Amino acid sequence: MLERRRTVQVRYVPHGVELPKGWVNHGPISPHSNLYVEGDSMEIRNPVTDAVLFSHDELAARDGTVKLAEGFADALLMLRLTFGRPMRVNSCCRTPEHNADVGGGKRSFHLTEGNASDGTCAIDIHVPDDSYRSILVHRALSTDWTVGVYPTFVHLDRRKDFGWTPILFHGK
Ligand SMILES: [Zn+2]
Repeated sequence: MLERRRTVQVRYVPHGVELPKGWVNHGPISPHSNLYVEGDSMEIRNPVTDAVLFSHDELAARDGTVKLAEGFADALLMLRLTFGRPMRVNSCCRTPEHNADVGGGKRSFHLTEGNASDGTCAIDIHVPDDSYRSILVHRALSTDWTVGVYPTFVHLDRRKDFGWTPILFHGK
């Protein structure tokens, strides 16, 4: 869905709201919002309040690359809104170099290229405490996210949208 650009800006605007000047409509991504891409940074915003929920720096690989798999931004926005709490990102997009550096899997869903989703559809969220972890894990599992539970973070990915069975796993 997103063009392969070094950086992009994504904005969700409810149907019927006028498009900001200079923005390009990339078509409906959900029944309630449209995706707009423009400029030199990317962020995912609350469609009602316009608050930034995921900043460019949180989503980008180390070199600034953001390439999200089709539908991932939308799924992430929906999860964030139904979860209703801040989500601090440990890791989202990884270029092949970045991924190799951190010891990621060869077909990791964090990869910006070379995986089944043709773009990043995974994100690691810092967990401050057990209650936060438990609510986030339940929320994600109930909407078909794959969930990896680690001591200090939760891995979430949308492999199901690309032909893989969603799973729950525990990591060290
Ligand atoms: Zn992960």
